[in-house]
Amino acid sequence: MKKIIIVDDSESYRSRVKRDLESNGYQVVEAVNGENGFTVCKSNKDCAAILVDMNMPGMDGIRMISFLRQEEGLKKTPVLIITTESSPEQKAQAKALGVIAWIQKPISGKALVKALNKLL
Ligand SMILES: [Mg+2]
Repeated sequence: MKKIIIVDDSESYRSRVKRDLESNGYQVVEAVNGENGFTVCKSNKDCAAILVDMNMPGMDGIRMISFLRQEEGLKKTPVLIITTESSPEQKAQAKALGVIAWIQKPISGKALVKALNKLL
């Protein structure tokens, strides 16, 4: 079973995505912010992908990903950003960090599952 990590400070969003992914055969591990996400990713290096929110209190998504990319075993892990943001500067930063997709919120569970099935 493919393990997906979701890093997002919105509990309602996390639980919705968790439900949608689990009902489509994915295993889901949650993290509540950037700092927590970094820790969770380091202890789940076998994950298939990491879904990252941009705006979170403390460490934001981009900073978290830049830390991940310095960790052995997480340098090439597929990372998708799922956010309300659409700034070209942030998108360029994400691309430089090897982020494979920038997905605009809101996204339906069905569309997210479809995107993951296609990318992974
Ligand atoms: Mg957020």
